[in-house]
Amino acid sequence: MTTQLKEPVGLWSHPAVITANNFVHKSLSNWSLNIAIGCSHGCRFCYVPSSSTIKQADRLKEYGVQDPDAEWGGYVLLRPWDEDKFLASLAAAERTPLAQLNFDGNRAVMLCTTTDPYQVFRHSNAARSKELTQQALTMMSRALELIRDNSTLNVRIMTRSPLARQHFALFKTFGHRLLFGMSLPTLRNDLAKVYEPQAPAPSQRLQTLLAAKTAGLNVYVAMAPTYPECDEADLRATLTAIKMVKPLTIFHEPINIRADNVDRIAAYGRALGVKLNTQVFDTRESWRDYSLESLQTVVRVSSELKISNQLHLWPDKKLGSQWVVESMPKPDQYVTWLKRRWERVSEWPRTSAA
Ligand code: SF4
Repeated sequence: MTTQLKEPVGLWSHPAVITANNFVHKSLSNWSLNIAIGCSHGCRFCYVPSSSTIKQADRLKEYGVQDPDAEWGGYVLLRPWDEDKFLASLAAAERTPLAQLNFDGNRAVMLCTTTDPYQVFRHSNAARSKELTQQALTMMSRALELIRDNSTLNVRIMTRSPLARQHFALFKTFGHRLLFGMSLPTLRNDLAKVYEPQAPAPSQRLQTLLAAKTAGLNVYVAMAPTYPECDEADLRATLTAIKMVKPLTIFHEPINIRADNVDRIAAYGRALGVKLNTQVFDTRESWRDYSLESLQTVVRVSSELKISNQLHLWPDKKLGSQWVVESMPKPDQYVTWLKRRWERVSEWPRTSAA
């Protein structure tokens, strides 16, 4: 007897609840609320399939997903809503003693960390697609209302999608308790189409960030991850645009190597017939050079643009490996520089935006 496979775009078995997260050196949040398994944006570099979704590999087989990493972007399963379970998870987060929390999380819940909270669910049936997308939006607004009214927790929104505009009025009701942010690694729509094939274009994201600022929201930007093709001119153009948004924080990191993400990037470039600078990932030394050069260029350009106070770098933990430290001309100074970045606590507003 053959088992009927479920659709890879549809509903997941377990409801959306708030869970503790474990960011290393990122200072983003203490908790996550993830509304789905998988992500329709399908970013080629994404760290999520290898770090998180892979744990659901057996269950994903029921949906016809054989390799959660290689098939990333091809499946997205919305978590169902169970208000009692959500409220129980919210209450548990709320009563967690400060001493038990990572010092840099700002007592915030991040929506989302392993998927995008504002995405289109692309089902083969247009009506089902619309229904799932609307269901996700409804879940987001209900979850946000409950967090606002039943806790003192902060909220960090992170998305690549202008669909978030639908909730600007709701975000505003949080005052200083909510930060709205988008990922904007480049302004080049053509390049983003290669690395983030199904995500909304950077031009749309910039417009959304500007609209958020105009709406009076506290805004941050994740210039992350920048690609090997992002040269100084590209980084400068992106930082100049980000400056217009007047963000509280600008996070930055280049692409880090995680499991099969480099293979995913290279395979997609080949399929499109686009030559990518994936040689920077060929050896640990070439990756170190690409990573440090990106970080240092962003530091220098930010200083020239007078936005260095907002800049919050995310150097990968592998940049602290002994072999990297020993390869530096001044190892002690380098370690001090790294630690300062890793220990930085990201800004949280004390008041509502003007
Ligand atoms: S939007 Fe985020 S979670 Fe979704 S694929 Fe891109 S990087 Fe991964």
